[in-house]
Amino acid sequence: MTETLTHTSELAAIVRGALEACGVNVDGLGGPHEASSPLTGEVLMTLPVNTPAEIDTMIGRAHEAFKTWRDVPAPLRGNLVKRWGELLTEHKEDLARIVTAEAGKIQSEALGEVQEMIDICDFAVGLSRQLYGKTMPSERPGHRLMETWHPLGVVGIISAFNFPVAVYSWNTALALVCGDTVVWKPSGMTMLSALAADALLARAVADVDAPQDLHKLVLANRSGGQVIVDDPRVALLSATGSVRMGQEIAPRVAGRFGRALLELGGNNAAIIAPSADLDLALRGIVFAAVGTAGQRCTSMRRLIVHDSIVDELTDKLVNAYATLRIGTPLDEGNLIGPLINKSSFDGMQNAIKSAQEQGGTVLCGGGRVNAGDEPGAYYVEPAIVRMPAQTAVVKDETFAPLLYVMTYTDFDEAIAIQNDVPQGLSSAVFTNDQAEAERFMSASGSDCGIANVNIGTSGAEIGGAFGGEKETGGGRESGSDSWKAYMRQATNTVNYSGQLPLAQGVKFL
Ligand code: NAD
Repeated sequence: MTETLTHTSELAAIVRGALEACGVNVDGLGGPHEASSPLTGEVLMTLPVNTPAEIDTMIGRAHEAFKTWRDVPAPLRGNLVKRWGELLTEHKEDLARIVTAEAGKIQSEALGEVQEMIDICDFAVGLSRQLYGKTMPSERPGHRLMETWHPLGVVGIISAFNFPVAVYSWNTALALVCGDTVVWKPSGMTMLSALAADALLARAVADVDAPQDLHKLVLANRSGGQVIVDDPRVALLSATGSVRMGQEIAPRVAGRFGRALLELGGNNAAIIAPSADLDLALRGIVFAAVGTAGQRCTSMRRLIVHDSIVDELTDKLVNAYATLRIGTPLDEGNLIGPLINKSSFDGMQNAIKSAQEQGGTVLCGGGRVNAGDEPGAYYVEPAIVRMPAQTAVVKDETFAPLLYVMTYTDFDEAIAIQNDVPQGLSSAVFTNDQAEAERFMSASGSDCGIANVNIGTSGAEIGGAFGGEKETGGGRESGSDSWKAYMRQATNTVNYSGQLPLAQGVKFL
């Protein structure tokens, strides 16, 4: 971003300007919802909340638009996403500014989030010419056997506060090139970012003359989200958030035989082997554990360190933590912004207390920072807690910068500790022993959807499939062949033989 934003009292005006630049009609807003900033705790703007009847109508319109959009050739659908990517590039700083104000991300991370949107648009445009199906040899003479991939329907997107726009774009860019339409309910904590991202898509839709109703933005709380969850016209529900949320909605979608793509909580660990380059590991750990103030689904929450190096590594970590600047992301020198709200701060305090009751020792952090200046904002010192074992509190995801340190003596034990949690999103090993690295990525190694070597648990690229196992929900989004979740597969057998041979040699008539 070109200027350094320093006056928090001007935050609302800055956000307003950025929204207008993206094409949001700010004067037309207003309503019962208070959109606030974790930077200061101040209310930035009030917003309307959609009623269940309005949401029902939006789903109906998106469903109607699908009937047109599905027949537009995929490469032409790609033109819409290409235009969206161009507009996102043009307004990268505007959108990032809103993300900073609303989700509390430091500016570099907010810009990175928008870059991720641009990257997935590029990926999806290429994909629009590569929605390949296979042709298989038929066992019958004069027959062709093949598969084709078709648009699925309306994709419902429910997203979390911590990636207010990127995860939405992973879903939307893919859904649009796959011929689907989208209905998006963002987090109640990040509706302004959603308005801006959706306005840019609306501009792209107008520019390429695509059907207006192929995207709908729902401003609502959980109960509004449930209207989307329960509607049989929503063919795929892609939901990102806590395990609790997934547990509530997955049975409801399954009950109506809808498809669910779940991206839920993680409890990500790194194993630090004795051969590791400790300086490299240190940098990887610090970014993954305290980046985004520990509020990434992939944030590093557990360190499993070989007992021969644990003291050296924890000393280095505590020293590194002491140099990190905490405070408003409006100051570009700060690396750790605020927690999203008080309940997040309370969650961290409760976890530290439980960890101490379960034998843990706080090595550093945990306290609130500059509470006096901004009473409604929750800045916190990132904490490191040495644990005697992987106790109950360590197995929970605490969505804050809280890193538990445990030790191991042999590598199999380290893998067993790494896997012994209910979640299965991201994992890492720092080692210079090739056999350990391979073992970590093997079938009996890490049980997570992401298993990295000599790199932290967070900061995935869009080219790979993203998601995790166990309570993380099993969904895959973004790159690789994740697009298949957004389409329906048909198998076609074509008979050009003039005969009617049956499969498996069956004789009939
Ligand atoms: P959350 O579960 O509180 O809310 C997520 C979204 O679900 C919000 O839009 C919310 O309004 C909606 N929601 C919640 N309950 C619902 C219900 N019963 N019916 C319909 N909608 C409902 O999560 P959060 O606090 O916004 O985000 C943090 C959580 O998200 C963490 O657990 C984090 O690990 C997870 N997350 C996971 C990924 C991933 O890709 N695996 C990515 C980002 C965040």
